[in-house]
Amino acid sequence: MKKQIEKVLTPPAPHMVGDGFRVHNFFPGGYGLGLKRMSPFFLLDYNAKIEFPPSTHQRGVGVHPHRGFETVTIAYHGKVAHHDSAGHSGVIGEGEVQWMTAASGVLHKEYHEKEFSQAGGLFQMVQLWINLPARYKMSAPKYNSITPANMGLYELPESKGEIRVITGEIKGVRGPVSPFSPITMANFYLKAGATIEFELPENYNTGLLVVEGSIIVNGESAEADNFVLFKNTGTTIALQTDSGAVVLLLSGEPINEPIAAYGPFLMNTQEEIIQAYDDFNHGRFGHLED
Ligand code: MN
Repeated sequence: MKKQIEKVLTPPAPHMVGDGFRVHNFFPGGYGLGLKRMSPFFLLDYNAKIEFPPSTHQRGVGVHPHRGFETVTIAYHGKVAHHDSAGHSGVIGEGEVQWMTAASGVLHKEYHEKEFSQAGGLFQMVQLWINLPARYKMSAPKYNSITPANMGLYELPESKGEIRVITGEIKGVRGPVSPFSPITMANFYLKAGATIEFELPENYNTGLLVVEGSIIVNGESAEADNFVLFKNTGTTIALQTDSGAVVLLLSGEPINEPIAAYGPFLMNTQEEIIQAYDDFNHGRFGHLED
């Protein structure tokens, strides 16, 4: 049975994150979907395509902490550089994914890569906050940089495009990331006239972000920058595109635990939020130069 569609959401009004990211927050804030509607995905900030003028200043977000979850950044256009207090740094280029497990806590900063800043250009990104089950919230931070060459590759028949699997499994192809709770995430790069059908568990919270082009999914149409939210009924998704499209799939088993969320921290209880602020204020997240 096909998964029914709950809503096709157009992008809510954007806001700036620092001076480098102009994002549409689809959840949890944008549409009042609630803190758990897309669990284990807690937050989706989508920087729809925007042209940044050349700048000698690297736009972005200065040093800030995270605890209790993972941040996943996907670059579609432009390049983002980052540094964290665990000693990791790197550049997320087009088609690449940074999967950072903040867990017990890191400080990091995220900003436009130097040469991209100087040249300016088209910028399009996704940042996701993925919740961690309680038993993993205080585990050690880690960092995973994923290029298209590392991703699971499913090629559509007749060269109609490909699916790049980041984690979980689609059509027998697995992605390289081992998540802390069951998640399926992939980018679909579909050429004009492509059709594809695949299965996901009925209970997984599931959505599709149309990054490029337009699609027809389970009988409904969605344009670029729309987010398609599915009901938790049925297992089949059938996608087709006349124009060609790029689509991000998010699907995961809900984490049925209490949520206490405040600022950059995502915990289970208010006491743990207070502890996070106390640890941050006492320098227990390590050190990172601004
Ligand atoms: Mn951050």
